[in-house]
Amino acid sequence: MKLCEFLRPASLPAARDNLRELGVKGMILAGGTALHFMQDHTPVTAVDITRLGLSYIRPDGDFYRIGATTPLSDIQRFRAPRWAMHEICRRISTHQIRNVSTLGGNICRVFPWADLPVVLLAMNARMVVYSGHEDEFTADEYFATQPAKRFLDGNILTSVKVPSLKAHHGFGSVKVVRTAAAFSMVTIAAVLELDGAQIKSARVAAGSALPFPRRLPEVEEALIGKEADPAVFKEAAARAGAAAPWRSREGMTPEYSRHLAEVSILDALERAATFARGRAE
Ligand SMILES: Cc1cc2nc3c(=O)[nH]c(=O)nc-3n(C[C@H](O)[C@H](O)[C@H](O)COP(=O)(O)OP(=O)(O)OC[C@H]3O[C@@H](n4cnc5c(N)ncnc54)[C@H](O)[C@@H]3O)c2cc1C
Repeated sequence: MKLCEFLRPASLPAARDNLRELGVKGMILAGGTALHFMQDHTPVTAVDITRLGLSYIRPDGDFYRIGATTPLSDIQRFRAPRWAMHEICRRISTHQIRNVSTLGGNICRVFPWADLPVVLLAMNARMVVYSGHEDEFTADEYFATQPAKRFLDGNILTSVKVPSLKAHHGFGSVKVVRTAAAFSMVTIAAVLELDGAQIKSARVAAGSALPFPRRLPEVEEALIGKEADPAVFKEAAARAGAAAPWRSREGMTPEYSRHLAEVSILDALERAATFARGRAE
């Protein structure tokens, strides 16, 4: 995209009106870092949404609500009970990029290396989209296809509701990279709910070595009702091969991507179980 003009609307309805009037000649601008990856040089007017009061993190019932323009560095620095989103944010690119990139920018146009969709799928987050009124979508609905399609009519992501981790729930994520700030080779996130030694529920998601981030139901099914121990985790991780179309990425063959996914799933599950065992309250 080639940015030719900037608009800085004062309210959410005004931003939506601007976007609807501009149609394909307009685009939402948050941190602007994704422009680096958009090879198309069509002239557009940028509608800057960073001054609409959408940068915040606050508790909201059983959720933490994160405003769409909250920079990744704020999510990385935030600490609270039952919160785990900082873990993945500190592993995204560099400080400079995290200071500018926003939550919304990371999940409204999903690039193959995007880490947050994987974590939000595992955490069963809700996305709130403004289209004159606010609608809420589960992560499964929202990431069923490229979310950018939802925003063609001037709609705007306003916030994301991340469930606070309840007692006996644990979160684990693994991002495999060649160097500290590199794109992911494979990203895995898992949330386990334990009932004593048994796994009551499981959500496991993967990205990067796949065409699009997704949950791994075959892996989840192999966990539910079983003991949370390394042998069960290994057996579940071995289902990854059949669970998703692992592809070549960063010079890896599809077979190597699958292998990397399996060992990363094992690692993420062990982290999630350790986290859950330490959280009886
Ligand atoms: C060198 C580099 C390395 C990176 N490495 C990683 C990495 O390893 N892992 C990772 O996850 N990310 C990584 N990123 C970040 C990621 O690729 C995106 O650049 C970033 O998340 C986009 O955020 P932004 O706020 O800059 O969005 P923008 O560039 O402003 O927008 C991105 C897209 O989303 C749309 N959009 C933005 N906000 C909204 C909204 N609220 N509602 C509707 N549509 C919206 C825009 O119109 C645009 O199409 C990297 C970025 C760079 C530059």
